[in-house]
Amino acid sequence: MKLLDGKKCAESLITDISRRVAAYVGSGLRKPHMTVILVGEHAPSESYVKSKITSCARAGFESALLRFPESITESELLAKIAEINADPATDGLIVQLPVPKHINPQNIINAIDPDKDIDGFHPTNFGRMTLGQKAFRPATAYGICKLLQFYEIPVKGKHCVVIGRSNIVGKPISIMLSNDFEIGNATVTLAHIETPRELLLDETRRADIIVVAVGIPGFITEDMVKDGVVMIDVGINRLDNGKLVGDVDFENVSKKCSWITPVPGGVGRMTVAALMVNTLMAYQNNFDLL
Ligand code: NAD
Repeated sequence: MKLLDGKKCAESLITDISRRVAAYVGSGLRKPHMTVILVGEHAPSESYVKSKITSCARAGFESALLRFPESITESELLAKIAEINADPATDGLIVQLPVPKHINPQNIINAIDPDKDIDGFHPTNFGRMTLGQKAFRPATAYGICKLLQFYEIPVKGKHCVVIGRSNIVGKPISIMLSNDFEIGNATVTLAHIETPRELLLDETRRADIIVVAVGIPGFITEDMVKDGVVMIDVGINRLDNGKLVGDVDFENVSKKCSWITPVPGGVGRMTVAALMVNTLMAYQNNFDLL
């Protein structure tokens, strides 16, 4: 079993980005700029935002964190987004999800200028990604592709099983792995909560690559996989004892895997790195550098 080390891969991507940024800045351009909006107080969001801001600094980007109280109304938040959309000094804009219950997250996502939508959640980017056109790709899914690419894991022609159909992970990674992308051309099964257990087991037991994003600790057990499987564990679950684990029973399943992502240090690291890749692309688009 070998580890798909998200930390190492993310470092490599961010170092490469920082070199490119240094060259752009050296030629007289301003730095790329990411703006992050955080509404209310939510401990996991605080930690995700912190890692985004830290990664911006390492990539050589400017960043701004705009905090708003839980009481902000949807229309006030939409007005703020409109203001940032119109600001040429911001290349990429993220509204950290979840937002408070009185705000409709889809209205927020739809309000972000698709050219600044580095999360890749706007219907325009999601549609372009689905059609195989140039797009900001949802960061976790894109990060998984980058990780597979970094470790030269064969994907073309393989049988992939994706478990979980969220708009941010399961759905986009199933599309990206099946599309004719540089990391793609796989035959993909997308399983979800309504997939009958027996069917799920049939699929996982013959899968070459499994991507699991369900949010249930220990969901993938060793009897569910074949020897040599490549396991991508997207789950981030905090146990009562404070330990962070994924969706895979790592201790037992890893013995059967050819490759597996650790949690932490796997997909989570790649999500942030992919956001940096998207931000650089937004900047390059702005300055016609591509
Ligand atoms: P979600 O929480 O919105 O939905 C869970 C998905 O799992 C649903 O599509 C559901 O159909 C499926 N599911 C639930 N029970 C199932 C079952 N018994 N059999 C088959 N499918 C089942 O999904 P999400 O937002 O993608 O989050 C999933 C996990 O990934 C969470 O732990 C989350 O914290 C984590 N996550 C990690 C990152 C990262 O950067 N590593 C990014 C996003 C989400």
